[in-house]
Amino acid sequence: MNLKDYVANVPNFPKEGIQFKDITPLMADGEAYNFATSQMVEFAKAQNAELIVGPEARGFIFGCPVANELKIGFAPVRKPGKLPRETVSFNYDLEYGSNTLCMHKDAVKPGQRVLIVDDLLATGGTVEATIKIIEELGGIVVGCAFLIELVDLDGRKHLGNYDVFSLMQY
Ligand code: IMP
Repeated sequence: MNLKDYVANVPNFPKEGIQFKDITPLMADGEAYNFATSQMVEFAKAQNAELIVGPEARGFIFGCPVANELKIGFAPVRKPGKLPRETVSFNYDLEYGSNTLCMHKDAVKPGQRVLIVDDLLATGGTVEATIKIIEELGGIVVGCAFLIELVDLDGRKHLGNYDVFSLMQY
């Protein structure tokens, strides 16, 4: 199965000059969606993951089926003001401005083996912030799995010490 057949390229969304990768056609096709999450499940098994962590919102779309298939837990990474209990947060710079991500303080157990799952690796800022939070909570990041990797943006260079898995490269 060629998963790229299920990704729509949308020029100039959400801003002029950006080639947005729309993954909703892949999610709409049960076989393609299952094929993609199955590959992530195999990676998660190989890394002996004990918990899946996914950044909102598309990290939930891929992370939750993986966690559920493995009968392990899922913990969300969210923007400020969304999680109801005590959180740990990390702030990082964007091209224009900055962004903050949060997790519940008890979302990761010390020593727990954590796999991060998201739809897309671009600059790596999101996953880097997620790693910082997981490690502050005492978790061990055993890898990062993405549906899509935008190789020209070189997100992997932020992830030098971690195992990175991606199903499609552009
Ligand atoms: P990064 O932090 O620059 O690596 O950007 C990755 C985050 O931005 C992921 O959480 C993606 O969901 C989102 N993202 C960036 N570009 C795209 C795109 O073209 N399609 C879908 N999501 C994107």
